[in-house]
Amino acid sequence: IMQLYTPLNWFGTYYRMIQQNFVDMENMFDLLEEKQEVLDKPDADIMVLPQGKIEFNDVSFHYSPDRPILKSISFLVEPGKTVAIVGPTGSGKSTIIRLLFRFYDVTGGFIAIDGKNVKDYTQKSVRQSIGVVPQDTVLFNETIFYNIHYGKVTATDTEVKEAAKNADIHDKILTFPDKFDTKVGERGLKLSGGEKQRVAIARTLLKNPAFILLDEATSALDTQTERNIQAAIQKVCTDRTVIIVAHRLSTIIHADTILVLQEGEIIERGSHEDLISRSGVYSNMWQQQLEANNNTDGNGNTSVEA
Ligand code: ATP
Repeated sequence: IMQLYTPLNWFGTYYRMIQQNFVDMENMFDLLEEKQEVLDKPDADIMVLPQGKIEFNDVSFHYSPDRPILKSISFLVEPGKTVAIVGPTGSGKSTIIRLLFRFYDVTGGFIAIDGKNVKDYTQKSVRQSIGVVPQDTVLFNETIFYNIHYGKVTATDTEVKEAAKNADIHDKILTFPDKFDTKVGERGLKLSGGEKQRVAIARTLLKNPAFILLDEATSALDTQTERNIQAAIQKVCTDRTVIIVAHRLSTIIHADTILVLQEGEIIERGSHEDLISRSGVYSNMWQQQLEANNNTDGNGNTSVEA
């Protein structure tokens, strides 16, 4: 029975993952060792200790040739800086992140890390230097300890607990029936979206990557959860190069650069202040969000899609 059960369970896990708006890509690759469309060059280099510079140069991309998704996207993220991407649903925000993770190869232009085309590195080494905090983290049906430890298999107990503390989830875990040994996931203790995201942050802190790709949850969170997550996100982003797909503009006020994406093109770019002072799409979104907040609880939690 176990032999039959395991592959079915795997299939179920896989199926649930691809249903996610933004799948937990790292888990998916590691679990399934998927056959990829993207292949390493025979002489591909291993990326070691990246400085953390990301460049998109005139990148275009389509999933199918009759429908361009990204059109001539260019931007630069200096090491340690944060770039936020905002824009309407379907504008291509997550696609930018998928390309960086090398889920797919670009169809035009190039993406460079530390000045070198990502195609010239092994995918494995690129993915090892990137931490992904997805919108909806899929947890393993394992203990909470296992789920965090997964970020770095050589981590000690102390390191796992430290990561949990920094992700602001440690005290919560101590309230679980078996503390760190509590089983979570589909067949264990069910965690809230905010808790799962903090587990993903703890895992990422442990992994200690040079790059962070963060897909902010779309759903509105209560004020306390929002605060906890923000604090955890701040920690995970410090001294790292970050690309964040944002839904709540309040979370990206301090981003170094904000890119406004519409139908696969960057239509505005600049800091929050820059963009507010122009009366463009971003300042409209901001205005809408302020009004929405005035009509609700004023917590800054309302999700705005232009
Ligand atoms: P949201 O805010 O809703 O997450 P987004 O800006 O992140 O949207 P993407 O997920 O990048 O948008 O999708 C951009 C476009 O590409 C959408 O029209 C979507 O339907 C299409 N798309 C996304 N993934 C695929 C895929 N695997 N195959 C074909 N089309 C896809």
